[in-house]
Amino acid sequence: MNMVFLGPPGAGKGTYAKRLVEMLNIPHISTGDMFREAVASKSELGKKVEEILKRGDLVPDDLTNSIVKDRLSKEDCKNGFILDGFPRTVAQAKALDEIMRSLGKDLDYVIYFEVDEEEVVKRISNRRICSNCGKIYNLITLPPKVDGKCDVCGGNLYQREDDKEEVVRKRYKVYMENTYPVIEYYQKSNKLFTVNGALDVDSVIKEVLNIIRR
Ligand code: AMP
Repeated sequence: MNMVFLGPPGAGKGTYAKRLVEMLNIPHISTGDMFREAVASKSELGKKVEEILKRGDLVPDDLTNSIVKDRLSKEDCKNGFILDGFPRTVAQAKALDEIMRSLGKDLDYVIYFEVDEEEVVKRISNRRICSNCGKIYNLITLPPKVDGKCDVCGGNLYQREDDKEEVVRKRYKVYMENTYPVIEYYQKSNKLFTVNGALDVDSVIKEVLNIIRR
């Protein structure tokens, strides 16, 4: 099952994807995570994208398309994947069509998690992530049991640099300008399903399962 998750930053795509990949046994592919890992490891790619990520701007399409193509070609994608954070421009959506064609695959579902700007700001500025296992918390809706520590592994929780309010508003603006047209692009292909991303996590997961089991 080949799926794309679309929606503004903070729509919960990463959280939903992490829950669903366990149930469906397919990999979660997040371009944001791939770029952050590149920055952390100080690779050539990381050096190129570090400043772009800090500003909340988009990484150029050619760099992004090529890491996605490499990743989707890997063996673990043969039964499907959840692509999260890609495509973010219509040019990337067209590139993804081409990548899928070249790999002899097809997209099954594009799921759009709809959330408005104020909800996004509220959620992201309260988002904290475990520095050890990557589990995502929200200080309001999903707080850790012990302040600043991960429930699962006890790792320290941190806030992403680009999760500060000012950068979040910029990312939302970038999203509306560049990514909203991607939703219109997929509307034409009958693969687009919209889910209310403002619901609680369990209800959102249930909605997604209803769509893919229909
Ligand atoms: P995310 O974790 O998906 O919010 O992504 C974090 C950052 O990584 C974004 O603000 C962009 O700078 C970069 N990024 C992630 N995915 C893409 C993409 N598909 N195209 C361009 N830049 C991206």
